[in-house]
Amino acid sequence: RMEQYAKLRDVPAVTKDGAGIALHMNAGLIVDVPHLHETGASSIGLFRTELQFMVAPRFPRMNEQYLLYKAVLDSAPERPVTFRTLDIGSDKILPYMATIEEENPALGWRAIRIGLDRPGLLRMQLRAMLKAAAGRDLRIMFPMIANVAEFDAAKGIALRELAHLERHGHATPSDLRLGAMVEVPSLLWELDTLAAHADFLSVGSNDLVQYMYAADRDNTRVAKRYDPLSTPVLRALERIADAGRRAGKTVTLCGEMGGRPLEALALLAIGYRSLSMSPSSIGPVKAMILATNLDEAQVFVAALLAEEDGAPSLREKMREFALSR
Ligand code: PEP
Ligand code: MG
Repeated sequence: RMEQYAKLRDVPAVTKDGAGIALHMNAGLIVDVPHLHETGASSIGLFRTELQFMVAPRFPRMNEQYLLYKAVLDSAPERPVTFRTLDIGSDKILPYMATIEEENPALGWRAIRIGLDRPGLLRMQLRAMLKAAAGRDLRIMFPMIANVAEFDAAKGIALRELAHLERHGHATPSDLRLGAMVEVPSLLWELDTLAAHADFLSVGSNDLVQYMYAADRDNTRVAKRYDPLSTPVLRALERIADAGRRAGKTVTLCGEMGGRPLEALALLAIGYRSLSMSPSSIGPVKAMILATNLDEAQVFVAALLAEEDGAPSLREKMREFALSR
């Protein structure tokens, strides 16, 4: 099987009826980067910067951050990297950082909320990224954005940092794109404004599903209780893809469901053309894409989503559809 997938490395991810799908890779440490070449992924669609912070004995200095980002960019010279700013808090605790005990950490002070309340930390990280990407393309996205104002505030900080570097004669990225992660359900009712303000959107379905169903993704009692392959989740995800298309902005989905072939099939059917996943998922998802007639999948899933039969999961029907091909 693995050998079969290895053979697919240089095969473009195109459906039987000719739709090209961009398959990107998630990474978090420098050791992940060689998988880019092994898998043939188009780019690093999500670089989780908190990993460096979690394995470090103390808060990484600006120069240490810069060196990591530069090493990542250097090892993927011809492919873009989308860095996500620090996503700590909740389950991702930094032992050296004093935090408050929270009753509900997943609903607490985490990710961009920390970044906006401690802008010095965010600025330092942005500066490290901007310097590391001197002369080349840079994509940065902000995690746990809950409203457009938070995205605007984070974007403002990034643009001020860029202006500061330019003013002081530093080389800066040739192109900078700033994106929002869509993983808090409130954004579903601000999608058009968000898509107008952001250069791209990236759906964090792990968190989005956790917050939609109010089910802790790390609590084994409830984490598997609700199927993301369900009418409410797919309808929500479809709205996000539609908003991106209306605004002419790329929407990538970078949660775990994008790396599971059956879920990925449903995602293609509702309009996703860009998925970012763990390296080991690229082969299986590409094999699915090569075997898929997208037109048929679209018709099938659209009919499922138009039904109101109240079934909590579409998995069986999706599986039957996939096996009947
Ligand atoms: C997500 O929430 O789906 C996501 C990609 O980010 P993380 O799993 O790091 O929260
Ligand atoms: Mg997330």
